[in-house]
Amino acid sequence: MIPAKFDYVRPSSVEEAVTALRDAGEDAKILAGGQSLLPVLRLRLAAPSVIIDLGGIADLRRISEDGDRIAIGAMAPHHDVMRDDLVKQHVTLLSQATATVADPQVRHRGTLGGALAHADPAGDLGAVALALDAEFVIAGASGTRTVGASEFFVDYFTTAIGEGEILTQVRFPKYTGWTSHYEKFNRTAQAWSMCAVAVALRLDGGSIAEARVGLTNMGTTPIRASGVEAALVGQQASADAARAAAEHATEGTAAPSDADAAADYREHLARVLTGRAVLAAAG
Ligand SMILES: Cc1cc2nc3c(=O)[nH]c(=O)nc-3n(C[C@H](O)[C@H](O)[C@H](O)COP(=O)(O)OP(=O)(O)OC[C@H]3O[C@@H](n4cnc5c(N)ncnc54)[C@H](O)[C@@H]3O)c2cc1C
Repeated sequence: MIPAKFDYVRPSSVEEAVTALRDAGEDAKILAGGQSLLPVLRLRLAAPSVIIDLGGIADLRRISEDGDRIAIGAMAPHHDVMRDDLVKQHVTLLSQATATVADPQVRHRGTLGGALAHADPAGDLGAVALALDAEFVIAGASGTRTVGASEFFVDYFTTAIGEGEILTQVRFPKYTGWTSHYEKFNRTAQAWSMCAVAVALRLDGGSIAEARVGLTNMGTTPIRASGVEAALVGQQASADAARAAAEHATEGTAAPSDADAAADYREHLARVLTGRAVLAAAG
């Protein structure tokens, strides 16, 4: 179907975009890569009167080093994030998970900010942002604010981005020297996650000194697997430790039942994939 009629605005700065958003009122929609928004418009599930395209704001595509953080512009396409040397070196888990998103076409158009703002619980990047304690920089008419990942994901397709606000940057602490793995289970290649597990470990000799674990599609938001993390820390990096920790994978989850999988099957997957991801991250 063809989308309903809308006005199109292409600002060249964040300030212009915020002003355009304010002027357009609650009936405006931000366009990033369009990989989720355009299908929604074409199916007429939404009919905004104004589309504000962030594609003309070059600054929002930048990936840079900022002290102990890697700062990624909201409009950085998945392809750039996946291949960026700073990301590969300091936030390896993000690079690994981004490589599993969809196919090359979608990865060239879709953006990190768009995916996180969309907050689909089956999306692969929310669990990574949550496990790695990313910070979200959000711009609005009254300035800029920063929200931690634990407050950013509010509910099903709902984030802390308020009306009239734009996500401009996602900042990841550096995890230099950590090992990591993203274990994704999907029905067909290039499809969304039925369930997936993001793991980053700091190994000290043969033991696990620190662990970060996030779950995809095990609730209405990405979920931090704190029980798994606690069970791993201080353990030797072994198959037994991975198996024991994986038993905690469903704590605090509320797995959905849908056409892809029943909740109890997803819970089984969460345990199995957690064990695999920990072992792969531990090498
Ligand atoms: C065939 C297909 C397969 C896919 N498979 C996967 C997959 O396996 N894993 C996965 O994680 N994702 C997958 N995706 C989604 C992909 O990751 C997209 O990047 C993501 O859905 C949206 O990113 P986008 O940049 O295209 O955002 P858009 O579609 O442009 O926007 C999405 C939503 O976020 C809002 N928004 C966008 N940017 C901002 C911003 N800066 N500030 C505030 N609001 C904003 C928009 O208004 C809109 O509501 C798939 C998509 C397709 C089409």
